[in-house]
Amino acid sequence: MTDERADLIFTGGAVYTVDAARRWAQALAVTRGTITAVGTDEQARALAGPGTEVVDLAGRMLLPGFQDAHCHPPGGGYDILHCNLSDAYSLEEYEGIVLEYVAAHPDSEWIVGGGWSMDIFPGGNPSKDVLDRLVPDRPVYFPSRDGHSVWVNSKALEIAGVTKDTLDPADGWIVRDADGAPAGTLHEGASELVNKHVPDETMEDWIAALRVAQKYLHSLGITAWQDAIVGLDSSYRTFEAYLAFAGGDELTARVIAALWWNRHRGIEQVDDLIAARARGPVGRFAATSVKIMQDGVIENQTAGVLEPYLDAEGNVTENRGRSFVDPEELKAVVTRLDAEGFQVHFHAIAERAVREALDAIESARQVNGPNDLRHHISHIQVIHPDDLPRFRELGVVANAQPLWAMNEGQMLHLTIPFLGPKRSAWQYPFGSLVRAGAVLAMGSDWSVSSPDPIEEIHVAVNRQAPASYVYGGESGDVFLPEERIDLATAIAGFTINAAYVNHLDDVAGSIEVGKFADLAVVDRNLFAQPVEEIYQGTVEATYVQGERVYQV
Ligand SMILES: [Zn+2]
Repeated sequence: MTDERADLIFTGGAVYTVDAARRWAQALAVTRGTITAVGTDEQARALAGPGTEVVDLAGRMLLPGFQDAHCHPPGGGYDILHCNLSDAYSLEEYEGIVLEYVAAHPDSEWIVGGGWSMDIFPGGNPSKDVLDRLVPDRPVYFPSRDGHSVWVNSKALEIAGVTKDTLDPADGWIVRDADGAPAGTLHEGASELVNKHVPDETMEDWIAALRVAQKYLHSLGITAWQDAIVGLDSSYRTFEAYLAFAGGDELTARVIAALWWNRHRGIEQVDDLIAARARGPVGRFAATSVKIMQDGVIENQTAGVLEPYLDAEGNVTENRGRSFVDPEELKAVVTRLDAEGFQVHFHAIAERAVREALDAIESARQVNGPNDLRHHISHIQVIHPDDLPRFRELGVVANAQPLWAMNEGQMLHLTIPFLGPKRSAWQYPFGSLVRAGAVLAMGSDWSVSSPDPIEEIHVAVNRQAPASYVYGGESGDVFLPEERIDLATAIAGFTINAAYVNHLDDVAGSIEVGKFADLAVVDRNLFAQPVEEIYQGTVEATYVQGERVYQV
């Protein structure tokens, strides 16, 4: 408490604090950006003066601002500003969007954008013929929603000189027609063959993308995030863009950058990462994490599995996916990053990659001893049951993208058939992780999928698509019902536990006296209605440090 009058008070609400006791309150007071009272209307009003703004919540819910533990806002903003397929879910819709975009951008040398869903196309592979018909004269470069594959037209292949004689690179492959000619889809590292010819975005492009992304995320109640790929090189200059954006006082969100680990370089890049980190923090931006992508994705069978994938007929193949960093090298890299005080943020989809990440952290622990860096593994789509307790033992945060834990098209057609029944039942084991004592933080992976935390919380609780879901309406059965988590646990994943992985839990992530007033107002109390209706909740206002950054 302080003698100063509050600048802002909220009264008459369902204030869900997400403090250690998960207490509820009715009201709170904010003084110079910091929470100075949490309690009853009377207690908050006691701090009001003539200049105090009073927000009557009228029964609405007040939560800590949501934090997204894994997302790509520059890419999401870029999609919004370019040929954006991510809100559509059929080939006809894609064609309409492309035609409209091409007509509206006669001067664009390249047609870029993307966000297509693999399960729209046979085998997950779109054909160049469709794009050739729509855009015969200019090159097209469209990454998929998950960014692991790219759809191109003939003009783009021609400019890149990719023909039937082009060999597949070591870390990806070109989908080919019966004659061996490129068919229009490039997976994983093969995208680089064309990508290097796409003009690099300028720093101004990335700042423009950040501006629209931040606005959109604030409209969903998000006040902080961890950017899961912040690039230092010229093809993805988002680090410089964040520094400029934060330095120009435009960054209202709190952002932790996970600097990209370039798997084509070695341990010598640690020096560059240290130098980058030392350029911050600037404003609310700090680059204290390093992102290592250890495997690909299951849909194109590049995720690292212990037992081989099945083929479409259910026969066992030879393919166990990829380890983008050799597991022994990974141990050395993680041990070094850990010694340098970096948090390591892994991309690990399938059970072998998850194990390799855990093994690497175990090695670092053995060499460097315990610390508070809070390494985390994102995606954790398949976890071998033996590895579940290791998250708690090693202090590794499980970073989940709950929107993927449902029976939608990609799961039914491109995942379960290739994993087989035993492993398919190990997917997204959120309930098991919680029961094993893991800290479960959550994020969206936007623009891979929607960044709306309420929709994501809905799926974490229900393991079923909300009625509003547009991608592959086959919501059907509850997906592995024993892995559902309760609403309080799901909200914690997007508030205090995401704040924990962002090292922001001392200043945000819960509503407590002394913390920043980072807040989200939701139109209804999410606990006071059937869980099947959680998705109907909408954010009506968002505050960072007591400043309103969004209002409906
Ligand atoms: Zn990601």
